[in-house]
Amino acid sequence: TSFGFRTVPEDTKESLVKDVFDSVASKYDLMNDASSLGVHRLWKDTFVSTLRPGRKGPIRCIDVAGGTGDIALRILDHAREEYADRETTVEVVDINAQMLGEGFKRFKKTMYHNTPQVSFHEANAQELPPSQFRDNSYDLYTIAFGIRNCTSIPAVLKEAYRVLKPGGTFACLEFSKVNNPLLSTLYDQYSFSVIPLLGTILAGDRDSYQYLVESIRKFPCQSEFAGMIRDAGFATGGDHDGGAWTDQWGGVACIHTGVKV
Ligand code: SAM
Repeated sequence: TSFGFRTVPEDTKESLVKDVFDSVASKYDLMNDASSLGVHRLWKDTFVSTLRPGRKGPIRCIDVAGGTGDIALRILDHAREEYADRETTVEVVDINAQMLGEGFKRFKKTMYHNTPQVSFHEANAQELPPSQFRDNSYDLYTIAFGIRNCTSIPAVLKEAYRVLKPGGTFACLEFSKVNNPLLSTLYDQYSFSVIPLLGTILAGDRDSYQYLVESIRKFPCQSEFAGMIRDAGFATGGDHDGGAWTDQWGGVACIHTGVKV
C-alpha cells in the first residue's frame, strides 16, 4: 500500500469525519449491511454495472472515498466477469487510513492482491496531490457514499474534473432526497431512530451514526447536485430522473453521472 502520503489538516470538518470513520472502520461493513438491510449491496451492484466509462477495453479508474474497497472490488469483478479483463486498474483513495487498512486486508483474500490492478492511497478528495493524481489521467472516477462527508462539494468536483481524461466519466452514488411523502416519512422514522440505535448496539457508537444520518439530510437534492456537476464543467443528461441522475428506491439513494467535455 501507499498509506500516509500526506497528513490532513486538523480542526476542519475533515478531522471530524476522520474520527467518525476511525471509530467505525472495523465495523463499517457489518453496519452497512445492518443499517440498509443489505440493500447497499444492490445499489452498488447497479452503480457498477451501469457505469459507462466512455471507452472500451481495460480502463484506469480512481475510486475516491473508497473506504474498504466495496466499489473497487465490484469494478474489478465486473471487468473480469463481463469482459475477461484483468488489466483494468482501480486506485482506491480515502482520507482515512483505517478504512483503507480494512480494504487492504479484504483484498488480500482476492486474486487482485499483489497485482497492479488495485492500490490504496491516503488523500483528501478535495485536494488530490497533483504529482500523484495527474491531470487527464483516468477514464472513470467513482465516489460512493463519500461526497456528502466532504466539506466542499465543488472542490471535490473540480478535482474529479481535473484528473479525468476528456471523455472520461464521473459517477457518484449517494443518499439523496425521497420524493414520495409516505416513503419519506417512513424513511425519516427509520433513519432517525433505527440507525443510531443500531450504531449503539453493533458499534457502541451512537454519535457517529447520528452524524451520518444528519449528513444525509444536509446533502443537496438531485437537481441541485446535478447543477453542481454541470458547474464543474461536466456534461450531464437532462435535469430529471433517468437523465442527469437515476434514483434508487425512490431517491433513498441516487446515481449521478457526468462526462468531462
Ligand atoms: N465508498 C465506500 C463504500 O461505498 O462503502 C465508503 C463509503 S464511507 C460511507 C465514506 C468514506 O469517505 C469514508 O471511508 C471516509 O473516510 C471517506 N472520506 C470522508 N471525507 C473524505 C475526504 N475529504 N476525502 C477522501 N475521503 C473521505
